[in-house]
Amino acid sequence: MKALPREADAFAGGGSGVKLLPACTAIDSMSAKNISVDPIVLLGAPGAGKGTQAKLIAGHYGIPHISTGDILRDNVARGTELGRKAKTVMERGELVSDDLVNGMVADRLKQPDCERGFVLDGFPRTVVQAEWLDRELAARAGKSNRPVVVGVEVSYNQLLQRLTGRRTCPVDGKIYNVYLQPPKEKGVCDVCGTQLFQRADDTEEVISARLKNYERQTLPLEDFYRKQGRLRRINGEQSVEQVMAEMFRAIEGGAL
Ligand code: AMP
Repeated sequence: MKALPREADAFAGGGSGVKLLPACTAIDSMSAKNISVDPIVLLGAPGAGKGTQAKLIAGHYGIPHISTGDILRDNVARGTELGRKAKTVMERGELVSDDLVNGMVADRLKQPDCERGFVLDGFPRTVVQAEWLDRELAARAGKSNRPVVVGVEVSYNQLLQRLTGRRTCPVDGKIYNVYLQPPKEKGVCDVCGTQLFQRADDTEEVISARLKNYERQTLPLEDFYRKQGRLRRINGEQSVEQVMAEMFRAIEGGAL
């Protein structure tokens, strides 16, 4: 992976509002869309910015951004059987069962667009899911079975502000924050003018349950991946561009 830094081209249309990043990736955007990358796993509490970063990474390499939260919300909205099973659990801020989520991810990883790599956002979230993922990757003949695992760290107070203030555009997925990054006109997307919405689980009561569950069920994953020598930690309280630069160093940096 030799350096051909190009600054501007990689991130247009990423949906995050970031148009120009510093030369933080060694691979220009044309080449990036032809290479295979190791599976990328983003760890971090709800509100740590995994979704924003995942979109940028996926856009750069031309690989899918797989958010288990998005897939579940889509199933809830369409009223599928999976959605019906997940709905009340999600409304309480608890985790959907490992079997349901693993099965959902297994189906998604079989799609041809995952051939050159993929970014997992919000999965795995338990040690059982991480162990399942290891087995699943090991069974993928001829492809990398060593995920790059990046832990995005953000303090509790900052997470609360990000989650309670989060508003999303239903059309282009652009994410705003009423405190930190408000839209120009209150409640309306800058890009397409659509009314922004607040996620049903971004209320204070549910947020507190989600953060507690994160500590109890997901934080132990850091140890799981640390013991495997795979965990790279990033300070998620920097600007999107700075976090992104560290992400690319982690992804393209090779072995620890
Ligand atoms: P997220 O959008 O990642 O914050 O996920 C929203 C909700 O979907 C979570 O609070 C869980 O109820 C559910 N969910 C998403 N990913 C998982 C997962 N890997 N395991 C279990 N539940 C999940």
